[in-house]
Amino acid sequence: MRLSQYFLPVLRENPKEAQIASHRLMLRAGMVQQSSAGIYSWLPLGLKVLEKIEQIVREEQNRSGALEIKMPTIQPAELWQESGRYDDYGREMLRITDRHDRDMLYGPTNEEQVTDICRSHLRSYKSLPLNLYHIQWKFRDEVRPRFGVMRGREFLMKDAYSFDVSKEAARIAYNKMFVAYLKTFERMGLTAIPMEADTGPIGGDMSHEFIILADTGESGVFFDKEWENTTLVTDISYQDDLEPIVERFTSLYAKTDEMHDPATCSVADADLLTRRGVEVGHIFYFGTKYSAKMGAAVSGPDGKDIDVHMGSYGIGVSRLVGALIEASHDERGIIWPASVSPFDAAIVNLKAGHAKTDPVCEMLYEKLTQAGNDILLDDSSESPGAKLASMDLIGLPWQIIVGPRGIDAGHVELKNRRTGETVELSPESALNHLLEQFG
Ligand code: ATP
Ligand code: MG
Repeated sequence: MRLSQYFLPVLRENPKEAQIASHRLMLRAGMVQQSSAGIYSWLPLGLKVLEKIEQIVREEQNRSGALEIKMPTIQPAELWQESGRYDDYGREMLRITDRHDRDMLYGPTNEEQVTDICRSHLRSYKSLPLNLYHIQWKFRDEVRPRFGVMRGREFLMKDAYSFDVSKEAARIAYNKMFVAYLKTFERMGLTAIPMEADTGPIGGDMSHEFIILADTGESGVFFDKEWENTTLVTDISYQDDLEPIVERFTSLYAKTDEMHDPATCSVADADLLTRRGVEVGHIFYFGTKYSAKMGAAVSGPDGKDIDVHMGSYGIGVSRLVGALIEASHDERGIIWPASVSPFDAAIVNLKAGHAKTDPVCEMLYEKLTQAGNDILLDDSSESPGAKLASMDLIGLPWQIIVGPRGIDAGHVELKNRRTGETVELSPESALNHLLEQFG
């Protein structure tokens, strides 16, 4: 992509309304624009990141065996009256009336909708297990939308729903999602700690919030300092018996302040860390809560009806864009992990239109692009200082900086955004270095 043909409305000044780094940087980098409180338009750069995150989430859901569907954003009130949540949900629910005076709502979540699909089509235990997910916009009329996309009113969520014949079977589905979440966040360069959450009247230990540490997080969290040494999970296969793996992770203490009780905490004070965190995912087994009320049952091997056991599994896809920035930025801007970066690298032509820099930039752009990489070429007429500031701001992992004086001396600069390390290399070496990095 050539910057001259792109839409990247960067802001030089810090927007006054933004209280935390991610919100400030997303506005400054031209990723989003506020439409009304907690509702945003996603501009090209922001949308690219959102879609990369969405894709990682999708791939890991698919690998775990969940099937993608797409449910509507607008739901009929009847479904929620059946479950009893139409009145309970309160003012967070955006209620709508259509032209026939039918009560509708903009979905804050989809348990009722998916239970309706289940009861319409599932007849026998032989159709289970089943896990259906979608990645869809939600609306919750939050009391205090704030921190940009971190607590929006309209936000993108991945929500999966599992259907099983028993609690034991549901546990297998739960474990799959548990591992899928560890892998998903790890692929984004994040350590998300699964923390025990409230299961309400169902009880048991099948509810976890996945929380990444950030000083600006809304949740207070307590966890064993051993969490800082946890090993990676990429090598785990979904075909393995996941129970021991989940146990390995859940045996380490980690709770939000709502669940933490100093009186019963098993970890010595010296080993207990207290931090703040952002909830990026939540997995939850709720048994037959909806299936019993809404009549979603299958016939068992003995011919008797079994209310379907369900779980739901959410990931805050749009919240993750902000959470990733909270976890990875410096005073100059965003530092994207390669897996979610909007472009793989930038080529900065410090003097666009110059007889010496233009051909080098074109050569680099063409070779890198042809090799399948997504490259942003800054061919704009901004000043060199402004260009370099913008590139640091938008945070691509690599920059190749091409200036007339460097070319005279036979080199370009290759800059690693995360370490700040800059090396002078011939254009060919810089090219080869990046091609090697990108594999
Ligand atoms: P919170 O406690 O932050 O309000 P929640 O418990 O209401 O979250 P869930 O209903 O479990 O959230 O939704 C699943 C995921 O959706 C959350 O883990 C979070 O990442 C994301 N999410 C929830 N509310 C918002 C919001 N207002 N803006 C952006 N993302 C959200
Ligand atoms: Mg909430």
